[in-house]
Amino acid sequence: MSEAVGSPILDSSSPRAAPGPRLHRNNPCHCGSGSKYKRCCRERDEAVRRQLRGSAMPSWMLDSRGKLHQFEKYVCNVFALPDLLETITDKRRAPEIPTFDVVNSLFHTAVLRIPSINALEGNLKESDFQKLLGRNPTQDIKAFSADVVANVLDKLHVGGARSAVENVIGKAERNKAFREGSYGALRCVAIDGWEPFASYDRHCPHCLVRKVKLKRASGELEEVDQYYHRYVVAMLVDPVLDVILGIDAVRNDEARRDMDEGQNVGHEGELTAARRLIDSLHAAYGTFIDALVLDALYANGPVMTQLDRYGYGAFIVLKKENNEPLKEALALWQAEGMCEQYDDPDKKEHIQFWDCDDVETLDTYKGKIRVIRAVITKPGSTPTTWCFAIIGRRARKLSRRTALLIIRARWHIENTAFNQWVQYWNLSHVFRHTSNALMAILLLWMLAFNLLQLFIYRRLKRDRRPQDPTDTIRHIVEVMLRDVATLPEPIPWAALLNTS
Ligand SMILES: [Zn+2]
Ligand SMILES: [Zn+2]
Repeated sequence: MSEAVGSPILDSSSPRAAPGPRLHRNNPCHCGSGSKYKRCCRERDEAVRRQLRGSAMPSWMLDSRGKLHQFEKYVCNVFALPDLLETITDKRRAPEIPTFDVVNSLFHTAVLRIPSINALEGNLKESDFQKLLGRNPTQDIKAFSADVVANVLDKLHVGGARSAVENVIGKAERNKAFREGSYGALRCVAIDGWEPFASYDRHCPHCLVRKVKLKRASGELEEVDQYYHRYVVAMLVDPVLDVILGIDAVRNDEARRDMDEGQNVGHEGELTAARRLIDSLHAAYGTFIDALVLDALYANGPVMTQLDRYGYGAFIVLKKENNEPLKEALALWQAEGMCEQYDDPDKKEHIQFWDCDDVETLDTYKGKIRVIRAVITKPGSTPTTWCFAIIGRRARKLSRRTALLIIRARWHIENTAFNQWVQYWNLSHVFRHTSNALMAILLLWMLAFNLLQLFIYRRLKRDRRPQDPTDTIRHIVEVMLRDVATLPEPIPWAALLNTS
């Protein structure tokens, strides 16, 4: 990449200024100890790199009270953002514009909620935005074009972006960002299906398609094809911090043939994609996750068995009264009756519980299932009923009230994620319609979303106002957008990166 203006010269005389070569965390360590890198010299190398990045950072970034400056400093210092962006590569040969610059521009498109690639192209002509990307300002001459951005998105290796997301979570975990106040000391992850957009005309070979009845101007009903993409998303549900751990696409028949799944008929369902996502969550995060929080689609033996095999507990909504294990629980409760009731003065709720453990009625799941029903009555409204299954030894031991909190926290994924992404993060807009570009965009946006959450709730220690947590982020992003105009010189990304 091009040499940035104003980057201070590194002090190479310092004896600690030599971290080892960059390694994957599971590779053998470079010191020859024979241990995995992550258990050997990684922490020391990271500390040295952090120190070097600190000395490469100009004082106007270090001392600023501007929110944008503070954000850039935080993501560089704590999460080594330049290193993360550098590991995201693409398939272009001998490109004129470095991938780093394009990925960096997309990352900031997400952070600052720029609504489209064309709008980004407009920003790429502005000297302020050019400085944000570490380029020498050339007002009115764009740094690169929308076509370059689209081409990079088509050719981006999405695995690099996925690792960047996982890396941030791993780092936040090592910094104990998730320690406080998780529900009943369990780390819970909600999985749900999400459909960011649908279209009647534009489509790609990997679009899912369904028949939809449309009313024409004449009043006639017409059946037409509707194209869409559907994803399964995994989000850590926490009282304070909601971060995305993973995302996968529901594949159509063409995508499945591309993935060598043989000749298939039709597209796979959400459940199939989610089970693949659970496998990859386990591979990436292992015992970081304690339990999954799932809707009624997942209330079946094969999913429970898969989770059990990974040592994961689960809280799963039960809806169908004639399906096991709810059917058996209902029969038991008929005889036993309600077991607890209490008033929650804060929420003005009266809650009644029915509870039974050790249900074993599924042929496809060998473990024991606890089933809870909660009926919640608020003055002046009709009561709502929650029925849910709990599996896993630790999860099954939780108090009824904590278990209910967890199952109700599932709304976070609808509210703080899906609604917000569509309303404020422009993700119902199709930035670029190829399956690779769509996934690349989602992963880069998740990276930005997670880093902003960590910045706001951990670094700035903002309260999470339960009424609308999305307001806090929206306000800070507006302030950061104004701060772009106050950058005195280019951010020295090249110097911040070349610290090894
Ligand atoms: Zn070592
Ligand atoms: Zn498509």
